Amino acid sequence: MDAKTLAAIDRSVVWHPFTQHADWEKQPPVVIEKGAGVYLFDVEGNRYIDGVSSLWVNVHGHGHPHLLDAIREQSELLQHSTLLGLASTASITFAKALVDKSLPGLTRVFYSDSGSTSVEIALKMAFQWQQQQGHTKRTRFVAMSEAYHGDTIGSVSVGGIDLFHAIYRPLLFDAHRLEIPGNREASAERQALNAAKRLFQEHGDEIAAFVFEPLVQGAAGMRMHTPEFLAELCALAKQAGVLLIADEVATGFGRTGTLFAMEQVGISPDFLCAAKGITGGTLPLAATLTTEAIYEGFKGKTDEYRTFFHGHTYTGNPIACAVALASLELFESEGTLLNVRERAVQLEKRLAQMAGRKFIRGFRQQGLMAGVDLGDPEGNAFLPNERIGHKVCMACRPRGAILRPLGDTVILMPPLCISSAALDELLDILNDAITDVLGD
Ligand SMILES: *Cc1c(COP(=O)(O)O)cnc(C)c1O
Repeated sequence: MDAKTLAAIDRSVVWHPFTQHADWEKQPPVVIEKGAGVYLFDVEGNRYIDGVSSLWVNVHGHGHPHLLDAIREQSELLQHSTLLGLASTASITFAKALVDKSLPGLTRVFYSDSGSTSVEIALKMAFQWQQQQGHTKRTRFVAMSEAYHGDTIGSVSVGGIDLFHAIYRPLLFDAHRLEIPGNREASAERQALNAAKRLFQEHGDEIAAFVFEPLVQGAAGMRMHTPEFLAELCALAKQAGVLLIADEVATGFGRTGTLFAMEQVGISPDFLCAAKGITGGTLPLAATLTTEAIYEGFKGKTDEYRTFFHGHTYTGNPIACAVALASLELFESEGTLLNVRERAVQLEKRLAQMAGRKFIRGFRQQGLMAGVDLGDPEGNAFLPNERIGHKVCMACRPRGAILRPLGDTVILMPPLCISSAALDELLDILNDAITDVLGD
C-alpha cells in the first residue's frame, strides 16, 4: 500500500494516544515501516534517528539480532501460558535474572504488561499490606508534584500533571502532594525537605506509601532532583513507617547511567516498578519488584483472604520474558552502561554549547535523558498557542530525526546504544531545526 492510502486509512480508523486529532487530521502522518539500529524508516524510504527511543523504550537499537533470535526461539516453543496456577520456563528465568541485577532486598517479581499496571500493582500491594499488618489508618499515598505514573485511574490519582489529569478529579482518590523543585537547586531542595518533614510529622501515620520517580520526572518535562535530596525524602518516609514505591518505568534499564536510578540514591525501595526499557523496546512487559517482608504479609490460610487478587491475562508472557532476558544479556556483552556514561558526557558538552544561543533558556540532563527548554531571547516562555516546541520537533523530521516536545521542552532520549557520530547528528538536527523555526 502506498503512503497516501495508508494515511487515509489511518485517519479513518486509528485514534492516536495523547494526540488532538483536529490537528492530526490536518497533516499527512509519517508512517513508519521498519527500523534498523538507531534509525526508523517510513514507507517512502525516509530515514530518521529515533531520538526518543520510540517513546523511551528502545535500548539496543531496532532489529538487534540477539533480541530477534530470542523472540524466534521462544515463539517456536511457547507463545503464551498463564501464570495463574501455572509456572513457565521463560518467566522463571527472567525473574531470577532481574532479581540478581536489581537492588539488594528486592527478591520478588510480580509481572504485568505496562508501566501503568506496574504502578497500579505497587499501590494496591502497599495498601493491602498495610491493612493486613493491622495499620488500618494507613489509607493514603504521598506523591510528588507534577508526577506522572501512567494513565489508569489509580496511577492517575497519584499523578500530578493537571493538563492530563484535572478532568478525572471526581473519579480519583486524593493523595498528599510534595512540592518537588525540578532543577536540582540546593536551597529549593532544602525548603522542600522542610515541607516534607512537616507532612510526615502531621500525616505520617495515615500514609501507606510514598510513590516517586527517582532522579528524573520525565513526563513533567525532565524535571530533576539530586540523589541526596531523594535519599533524605526516603529516610523521612521510612521513619514514619511509610513504604517506598520507586517508579523506574522511565529511569530503569540504564537510562540514567546505572541499571536502576535507585542505585545512585543508595536506597532499596519496598517496591520498584519497571517497564519501558525492560524488553529493549520489543514487546510489552512490566515487573513490580518487592521484598520478602511484603511477600510474607500476603501469606495465609484460604479463609484469611490475604491473597493478592490481581493479575492480567498476559502476565509473564514467555516471549516477552525471553526477549527481556536477552536484553539484560546485551547490557553485559555490549557494555551498554559504559556507552551511556560516555554518550552522557558528550550530550552534556553539546547541550552546554547550544545553551549559549538565543532561543534556549536552559537544559537538564541525566544519563541519556535530557530536556531542552525553548524560550524567547529575553528568557521568557513562549505562548502555549504558538506551539514552538511542536514546530521545532516537526522541523527535525525533514532533517532526519524524530523528537517529541513536552510543551516547549524538547525531549532527548536516544537509544542507549547510540554512537558518538549519531548523537552528534541528532544534536546538529535539533540545532538546525531551532534555526528553521526561530532564526539564529
Ligand atoms: C511511561 C510511564 C508510565 C506509564 O507506562 P505505560 O507503559 O505507558 O503505562 C509510568 N511511570 C512513568 C515514570 C513513566 O514514564
